[in-house]
Amino acid sequence: MSIPVLPPIQLDGIDFRFNEMKASQYGGLTNFCGWKEILLRQSGGRRDVMLPPNTKSIVGTVAHNVLEQVLRGNICDAAGFDEAWAQQLASRLEKLQTDYPWLKVQTPLEDYEKKYRTKLMAERVWQRRSSRQGTTTVPEGEYKIPGLTGRIDLVIRRDQWTAIVDYKTGTITTGNGEIKPAFVIQLKLYALLYQKQTGQIVSKLNLLNLADERFEVPFTQEELEPLYEQVLAKSASLNEFIDAGDFSALANLEEETCRFCQLRPLCDHYWQSAIKNTSDFEGSFREVKEAFDKSLLLVFDVAGERRLLRGLQGWTMDDFAGKEGMSLRVLNAWPSDKPEMTHLYNATANTALFWSNA
Ligand code: SF4
Repeated sequence: MSIPVLPPIQLDGIDFRFNEMKASQYGGLTNFCGWKEILLRQSGGRRDVMLPPNTKSIVGTVAHNVLEQVLRGNICDAAGFDEAWAQQLASRLEKLQTDYPWLKVQTPLEDYEKKYRTKLMAERVWQRRSSRQGTTTVPEGEYKIPGLTGRIDLVIRRDQWTAIVDYKTGTITTGNGEIKPAFVIQLKLYALLYQKQTGQIVSKLNLLNLADERFEVPFTQEELEPLYEQVLAKSASLNEFIDAGDFSALANLEEETCRFCQLRPLCDHYWQSAIKNTSDFEGSFREVKEAFDKSLLLVFDVAGERRLLRGLQGWTMDDFAGKEGMSLRVLNAWPSDKPEMTHLYNATANTALFWSNA
């Protein structure tokens, strides 16, 4: 295992265009970052040059996928549920470990609680299915119209009435109790996709969490078409930036957008900005020392000042041999909270390192 070297991002002759936005992605209308899409494609989707997903989000994906199988009728009892959950979680954690050998991958604590709640939700789905009269539940799939796609979880139809349901395994509301704006846009785009593709009018949009709490997203027919036009206009303006070679205009450099971005290691815009997380820094590597417990202490120059990173695990002295003077990007290391020790950073289990070409 060695520390990944970040590849240069080639922008000459780029042929990528934003021709198809995802409703889930576009739900984050205000914090959508076009530059992230370019980085993803131009780095060949290499996992090792991105930050690992957090295990909490992996459990969320497993919950969503298993629930989708329940809705599709592919999982009909508790034993099938347990088997699917165990299989999916194990294969995702195994992939995580393969992609990031330095990471200490463990079964996340969230697993037990989320599995329990997802299973309760699955049981409610099985019960409702056997008791419903005159209602069709359609575990839906991919919908597509020019410039927009979306994967709808569930459509419920009764007589002339149609509802779209989207399951969320995380929190649905913001701190002040309102439905997250990104989810509101996402659901309205689902209504638009469904109506345009099937010709059937959607009456209700609902979000459902694992506690079986239902959140209705109010909407009017009149607002759907203008929203679609916004999607198309956004794609067109992003494509104009690409055509003009103005790639930096694609970056949405905002603290809220960048804070958890997995592409941070590769994003020069981020490293040159003033909005970097306090846990991330870049410095010229000077030397490495090994402590009694085999953890490492790295010494850097950052803007002419000495910086130390201590308690680093997962790498050996050999990983740094002959690298003096090279630039290293350090992510997810915590600065000391003592005012006189601002040069000292503490490594965590999630601290990631990347040699940069800067
Ligand atoms: S760090 Fe910010 S600007 Fe860079 S790709 Fe991620 S979201 Fe976009």
